[in-house]
Parts: sequence; C-alpha cells; structure tokens
Amino acid sequence: MNLEFWQSRWYEGRIGFHKSAVNPLLTQYFSELDLPIGSQIFVPLCGKSVDMVWLAAQGYDVVGVELSEIAVEAFFAEQNITPTIHQYSDNPAIKYYQGQFTSQTTEQTITLWIADIFAVTSKDIGHVDAVYDRAALIALPATIRSAYAEQILRICGKSNDNNKKAPQLLITLDYDQTKKDGPPFSVTNTQVEQYYGNHYQIIALKSNTSTLNSAKELTVTEDVWLLKDL
Ligand code: SAH
Repeated sequence: MNLEFWQSRWYEGRIGFHKSAVNPLLTQYFSELDLPIGSQIFVPLCGKSVDMVWLAAQGYDVVGVELSEIAVEAFFAEQNITPTIHQYSDNPAIKYYQGQFTSQTTEQTITLWIADIFAVTSKDIGHVDAVYDRAALIALPATIRSAYAEQILRICGKSNDNNKKAPQLLITLDYDQTKKDGPPFSVTNTQVEQYYGNHYQIIALKSNTSTLNSAKELTVTEDVWLLKDL
C-alpha cells in the first residue's frame, strides 16, 4: 500500500472510509481514557474525520497526521475553520495546518500535519495525552503494521518518562483476509497483542460480529480496545 495509492484515492474522491457522522464507538467509549479537559489527543492517519470535531467540542486539543493535503484542506473548509499554514523548518517537505475550533463552551486548537506518519517525530507532534486510532492501524498492510505501531509508541511516549505511553482507544476489524482485499485490513486479537502487548495492558471494551452481504457473506468482527499503561 504505497503513498500514491492514498494520494490518488483522495484526488479521485474514493473515500468510502470517511463517515459524515461521528463514530458512535468514540462517543460511547472515549470516557474510558479518563482524560482531563484540555488534554491533547493524537489522531494518526486522520483523513478529514469529523471525530476530531467531536473531540474538540468535548474540550480537547487535537493533533492529527495525514498524508493528503486535499483531506486536510477539506477538513478545515467543511468545518468553517480558517487555518494558518506553517512550513516545518527542519524538513521543507512537511507543513501543518492549524485552526481554532470555537463553540459556546470551548475553544480548542486543531493541528493537522501533512506528512507520512513515518516522517514526523515526537518533537513535531508535541505532548500526547491519548491516541485515537480509527481506521489507521487497519489501513496498513501487515508488512508495515509493526513499524507503524513502533512509530506510534515513539510519538506517544510521555516526555517525563518515555517508558510510559499515552493510552489509546483503538478500533480494529477482524475477518478472513483470503476472502477480501484490504484496506481495511484484518487485524487479529493476537496481532494487537503482538504490536502493543509489551507496552500496554490491553482491555477489550467491545466486540461486535456482523455479516456483510455485499462481500460474499463475509463475517466481520469489529473490536474496540483500551490500551492502558502497564
Ligand atoms: N482515520 C480517518 C481516515 C482513515 S483512512 C477516518 O476515520 O476517516 C486512512 C487515512 O490514512 C487516509 O486518509 C490516508 O490518506 C492516510 N494515510 C495512509 N497512509 C499514511 C501514511 N503513511 N502517513 C499518513 N497518512 C496516511
């Protein structure tokens, strides 16, 4: 799954993964992260997800990373937020858009980096209090998922103690990969354990199995995980 694949999906508007409504699993399970208001939530491979608006409306700052500038521009335009664009000085190829979400109750900063997730550092992203991973881990093929998980762990190390990692709310799908090509790719419970088990206590919050008639009666299980400090 190379970077051009995603760039052309955005360019051609083939973005079936994008949902116009906030993910109900986020609203249902976010409180499990137990975060103080004002915390910063890291959203890797964020697309133009409206989940980021929900997070800001709850009183959290958001920092995302997304390959496609089309996605980031669309996010701010659709939310009626005028961003400022910053060139990242260490690497002229990388920039970020930053805007203020304002409601009657809160004003929060949303910062979206336009970059390959592997090209940003924890210094760029800054302090991370929690990670929200919806359709990020499962967007990537098995060959690069371990490297992705390691990169997320690097970015979400706590500055005062890098062994401590910010908690994650992670949503995965598990299905017979021989019956359907990804993305989204199937990620088994064993793989979640393999990627993150050394760093987190892995708590299954919900598992919901359904059958997709559109894809040869494919049985798909959606899992919601809370990854908490050991
Ligand atoms: N989380 C979003 C988007 C999921 S689809 C949502 O829930 O709607 C996966 C997204 O990751 C796409 O927008 C794609 O452009 C982006 N992406 C894929 N590979 C990436 C990489 N290596 N670095 C940064 N973004 C990437």
